[in-house]
Parts: sequence; structure tokens; C-alpha cells
Amino acid sequence: MQKIEFYRHNIGKKEIQAVSKVLKSIFLTTGSVTEEFEKKFADYLQVRHVLGLTSATAGLFLLIKAMDIKEGDEVITTPLSFVSAANCILHCGAKCVFVDVDKNTGNIDIDLIKQKITDRTKAILPVHLYGVMNDMKRMKAIADKYNLKIIEDSAHCIEGEIDGIKPGQISDGAAFSFYATKNITSGEGGLVATNNDELADKIRILRLHGMSLDAAQRYTKKFTQYDVLVPGYKYNMFDIQAALLLTQLERIDKMWEQKKEIFKYYYEKLKDINGISYPSVPENVKHSLHLFTIWVDPEKRDEIIVKLQEKGIGVAVNFKPIHLFKYYREKLGYKHGMFPEAVRIGASTISLPFYAKLKKKEIDYIAKVLKDII
Ligand SMILES: *Cc1c(COP(=O)(O)O)cnc(C)c1O
Repeated sequence: MQKIEFYRHNIGKKEIQAVSKVLKSIFLTTGSVTEEFEKKFADYLQVRHVLGLTSATAGLFLLIKAMDIKEGDEVITTPLSFVSAANCILHCGAKCVFVDVDKNTGNIDIDLIKQKITDRTKAILPVHLYGVMNDMKRMKAIADKYNLKIIEDSAHCIEGEIDGIKPGQISDGAAFSFYATKNITSGEGGLVATNNDELADKIRILRLHGMSLDAAQRYTKKFTQYDVLVPGYKYNMFDIQAALLLTQLERIDKMWEQKKEIFKYYYEKLKDINGISYPSVPENVKHSLHLFTIWVDPEKRDEIIVKLQEKGIGVAVNFKPIHLFKYYREKLGYKHGMFPEAVRIGASTISLPFYAKLKKKEIDYIAKVLKDII
């Protein structure tokens, strides 16, 4: 039977060579390779600061922390996402306030944000679902009016833009992920991008125990005592990770072009199957092409997933809405009837295999199988 993985990474000779080079050097932790990657990523995004971390979750957590958001505060976010951001809001002691999503894109419904703003609201935390950016200009107008911060969960969106704006450019900060299935990957990894100097300084300190000097500074310069300025965390990206990412970053636009072809081919192949619809991509958006997601009849969705898997096709569900998880229902009082659009999409959605190495004949097979099932 044919086997089509849900995801295949793009790590090859160049990455293996780059990692070998680091392994043969003396310095394995956060040093010059991490610094070079941060600089290149900042150039790519055209933002002032990039801070390499162990995950996007670390980035979201540190952004919320660095903004001094804490118990008694509220953060507005979407229920239709991975649980990471919502958990981070809770870790900081704040209240996680969900707002339903737009029925066409699955991104947070900006029209519904205002009615959830209270005098305790400190930030809005949008997620660029599947790689389609939220309307940052409109969100920024609301944030400015109510004096709120914006934290972007950009785990799906490295290459994306809206109105020419990239993640991290007009918000207070964006967190990116290099988890195993993301557009470029080091297995685990992440970063924060921001144009806010003060936040960048705070996160630089918080990511490494709150120390005033990192290991590279202590190692390469004349001996100086470091100080501890705050009780920080241990979230620093290190050179082995950065080596893997640097060479992928060089190819990221090329891989994006390949995925654009695949995206188009999928649409072509699936277009005459009744009963499939798609999240929409607004005209002013450059899609980062992270996930290829279809929406099917929620009554039949699980059955379709099982049959796809039986035919050797890897799939994922992005996402079961967060407010339906046990902890969020039982401890935070969220209920089944809430956020109907997020629930509808969460019950209809199937993400199909989608990566630069996916072959046209594999898509032909997926299309044929889907047609037979539906
Ligand atoms: C992958 C993902 C995360 C978490 O990324 P990590 O690097 O694993 O912490 C957060 N949000 C979304 C939307 C994701 O898909």
C-alpha cells in the first residue's frame, strides 16, 4: 500500500554538514551560530530584534511575562488553535478570554473583540491560522484605541504577509516555531521577533536565568562576573539548533514557491469533489502555506479521517477548539455551546499532507482516495 506521510522535513546534506561543523567546534550552546541565525531571521522579517528560543511556547510565555501581564489581567485570544498560547496566558496567572472566529478564515473575528474588552484586558493574542495572517491594521487600530498590546502566535506563519506587513512588524512581538512539522524545523525550537527595544532586552535576560551575560559573552571576553537581574528561565536556542535552521532559511522562499505549486495542484485536483470547502485566503494576504486544510461535513469528518489513514495517508486535525478540553471546561467554565464557528470548523477540518517534497502523483492518489470516500 502507498504511504504518504503527513509531513516530511527538508533536512538534507547542507544541514547535516552545518551541524557537523558545530559538533566539531568547541562551542555547542548559544553562540555565534545562533547569533547569525537571529540576524538573518531579523533581515528576513525586517524587524529589529530576533531572540532564539527553545520553542514558540517559550516565546509566547516570555512575551506575556515581559509585558508584566499577571493575575487579575485578561488576554483575548482564539479558541481555534493549538493549546500553547492559551496555556501560556494561564501560566502567567492571567485570564484567557476566548473570542469566536471568522467563519471564512478561522482567524479570530475582529468584529467580536471589542465586546470582550474590559478594564482588565491587557493584550490581544491572534494566531495566524494555517498561515493566513490576521488583519493586523484593523487589530492594531483596536489595540491602540484601548491601549492593548498585540502578541502574534506566528507558529504557522514565517513567509506570510498582509498588506505587505510581516509578523512582528507592527505588533509588540511575534512568536515563531521550529517544531518538527513546521515550515522550517530543528525538531524543537522557536523565537521571538519584535521591534520593541525594551521587550527585546527583557526577553534576552529572561530566556537565560535572568543573567546579565550569556555563556558566549563570558567565554569569549575577558572574565567578568555576571549578575542576576530577575529570576529568569532556561529557554535559549543553541548553536546546533541554529545550524539546522540557517541553511533552511536560505531555501525558505524556494520551498515556498514549490508549495505554492502544490497548493494550486491540490485545488485543481479536488475541485470537482462535492462536499469539500476551504478556508478563504483574502486578496491582501500572502499565505505562508503552512497547512493545506479542507473542510468537510462534520457528521462524516471522523469517518473520512479513518478511511484516509487506512489508505496510508497521514492527516491531522487543526484544531479541536481549546474551550472543549477538560481543563478549560471544568476549571474555567467554558461550555460546549460557546464559540459556534470555532466548533463548526474544528469539527469539519482535515489537514492533508503538504510539504515541498510532496509529489504530484501523491496528490493524485490523495485526490482519488478522497473522491472515492466522499
Ligand atoms: C506548533 C504550534 C505552537 C507551539 O510551537 P512550539 O514551538 O512547539 O512551542 C503554538 N501555536 C501554534 C498555532 C502551533 O501550531
